[in-house]
This record gives sequence, C-alpha cells and structure tokens, in this order.
Amino acid sequence: MIAIYPGSFDPITLGHLDIIERGGKLFEHIIVAVLCNPNKHPLFSTEKRVEQIRECTQHLTNVRVDSFTGLTVDYARLHSAGVLLRGLRVLSDFEKELQMAHTNKTLSEEIETVFLATTTEYSFLSSSTVKEIAQFGGPISHLVPGNVARDIYWYYRESQS
Ligand code: ADP
Repeated sequence: MIAIYPGSFDPITLGHLDIIERGGKLFEHIIVAVLCNPNKHPLFSTEKRVEQIRECTQHLTNVRVDSFTGLTVDYARLHSAGVLLRGLRVLSDFEKELQMAHTNKTLSEEIETVFLATTTEYSFLSSSTVKEIAQFGGPISHLVPGNVARDIYWYYRESQS
C-alpha cells in the first residue's frame, strides 16, 4: 500500500519527520508530496523544500519526495496510492483535517485519509512557529532537521543584511 503525505512543509519540522518515520513503518511506500500552491508565498521554493526533505529522509529507504500542483486525490490516483497520511496535533487541526478528509472522500471514494497523532513532544510544533523564532534569532535546532536549521539561519541572515 502506497501512502501520500501531502503538505506545504515550509519548512519540514521534526514533527513532520516523526510522522514520515512512523508512517514508513505502517505503509510499504510513502511519497512526501510538497504542494506547489501559487496562491501562497512560501519562505522556500518548492524545489528547495523537496531538496530539504530528501536530505533529511535519506535514511528511510521506502520514502520518496516529490512535488505536485492540483488536487491531492488526482496526484494520489496517478501514483496508485490508496492512503492520504495526515498528522494531528491539537483540536483545531482536527476540525480542518476532518473537513478536508470528507471533501477528498467526495472526490475519490477509494482513497482513505489516515491520521497519525503527533508525538507529545512535537504537539506544539509548526512551520510558522519555527519561522517566527528564527526571525528573531532564537534557537531552532531542537525543532527542525540540521540541514533545515542551516538554511533558515542563512535565509534570515541574508534578508537582514
Ligand atoms: P498544510 O498541509 O496544512 O500546509 P503542513 O505542511 O504544515 O500543513 O503539514 C502537513 C501535515 O502534517 C498536516 O496534516 C499537519 O497537521 C501535520 N503536521 C504538522 N506539524 C505537525 C507536528 N508537529 N506533529 C504532527 N503532525 C504535524
């Protein structure tokens, strides 16, 4: 069974990585699919986000990283994936995620959304939190993979110089 883990991953955090690692134990293959959304203005380009995720998941042999535009269910069908993997942190995630799961079900009856609950230590962690801390020079190395911390610090150093 192939599972797609779709998201913005701007940038990938240790919370995302934890979901990928645990998902990889449940499914034969995981495709981490970076959504290229022209309406959003991400910190990192789609290509950079794919590169960051590839680097920090290279130890996982059944994980592939890709990007996509359009409907997630269309992308899943194209790759013969039966599952959309999503993570849940807090109650507010649940409302949004449930609505999305129901919507996707109306678009594709055969694709199931599977939720993994966050590991407690990452329940507060989001990409936006990381960016906010880094912007003011705070520590983020306990929140994101090493290669991502390096990229973020570089970004803020360059943009402030
Ligand atoms: P979105 O897809 O809404 O743009 P993200 O790219 O940040 O959001 O997240 C992709 C998926 O990972 C979502 O299902 C989100 O709830 C989940 N996720 C984000 N951060 C964490 C975390 N710290 N622990 C578990 N799941 C998470």
